[in-house]
Amino acid sequence: GQCSAVCPTGAIIIKNDVPAVWKAIHDKKKRVVAQVAPAVRVALGEAFGMKEGENVMPLIVAAMRKIGFDEVYDTSFAADLTVIEETNEFLHKLENGNDLPLFTSCCPAWVKYVENKHPELMSQVSTCKSPQQMFGSLMKAYWKESNPEDDRETVVVSVMPCTAKKAEAGREELKTDGISDVDIVLTTEGLADMIYESGIVFKDLEPEAMDMPFGMYSGAGLIFGVSGGVTEAVIRKVIQDKSHTSINNIKFCGARGLEGTKEFELPLEDGETVLKIAVVSGLGNAEKLIQKIKSKEAFYHFVEVMACPGGCIAGAGQPFGLTDKKKLRAKALYASDKQTQLRHADENPMISSLYEGILKDRSHELLHVHYHK
Ligand code: SF4
Repeated sequence: GQCSAVCPTGAIIIKNDVPAVWKAIHDKKKRVVAQVAPAVRVALGEAFGMKEGENVMPLIVAAMRKIGFDEVYDTSFAADLTVIEETNEFLHKLENGNDLPLFTSCCPAWVKYVENKHPELMSQVSTCKSPQQMFGSLMKAYWKESNPEDDRETVVVSVMPCTAKKAEAGREELKTDGISDVDIVLTTEGLADMIYESGIVFKDLEPEAMDMPFGMYSGAGLIFGVSGGVTEAVIRKVIQDKSHTSINNIKFCGARGLEGTKEFELPLEDGETVLKIAVVSGLGNAEKLIQKIKSKEAFYHFVEVMACPGGCIAGAGQPFGLTDKKKLRAKALYASDKQTQLRHADENPMISSLYEGILKDRSHELLHVHYHK
């Protein structure tokens, strides 16, 4: 039956989307493509009594294939695209020196908050679509162009840590030619329900790898799931010295940790520019920061905001987690990042080939959004 949950941040009644996913999977005229957000993999195991904060992505892939998804990909891939687009936007604004700080745009609950409470700041919110939306628009355009003889309709299903992502997927501005970039959004708990309904014994599954080409990602995309991750990913792209030591050392810059407000300075290699950066999670902390900016008590070049305290690892669609759990989830994402061969977004070879191909003339259309006033 249909049950519903209340979105804690958007105050919207959200329906249960599991039946719609089953319907799409059973429809042979549909190609059902899944994307799994970074934060999901370090929380889903808890729903099956597994160790808290364990990265269970390879089991998620195995479960989703058994359930019948045609392709299983990683939202971290699209996060790499977000990093590139957002850093370029940031460097451009920095050069012109106006309209700063640049606020991040990947948390839809934060975007909604600015629209409602501080519409005058909307021009400072990055025009980048969130990774979920970039993934969706790209996927639909890519398959249409690269495989026109396949007449199945592409249905994009996301597995996300929160219900705010459902509201985001339904927005008019995030449609291309009247079609939503993302069709159905499952929360982490929604996916857990599907796995239970299928009778799959999750922890006994054999680990499987994601599909290619959109299962490839850098560690920078992966850490989007934790507060400070977007900032660290952007810094990895901004710095010139991309050696392992240099990338590893960014972890000491001040972006990491579960504190609600983190502020730090980052001297750039040109010896002149010192970036002032703030990373906040929790909308109350965001409001305080906005007031500080408005009263000119503080100035920042770059501000990352996530509505959930600690970032997406603590999203309301995840199994409930107190501080200890959040710490373990964050730790697991950082540990997985360290194990990836690719540590910064530019290293992702699939992304470079997209920029030479489909994104050559269409990056603005597919990857950016302008919200209506
Ligand atoms: Fe969703 Fe929370 Fe992440 Fe925002 S911070 S995208 S509301 S889980």
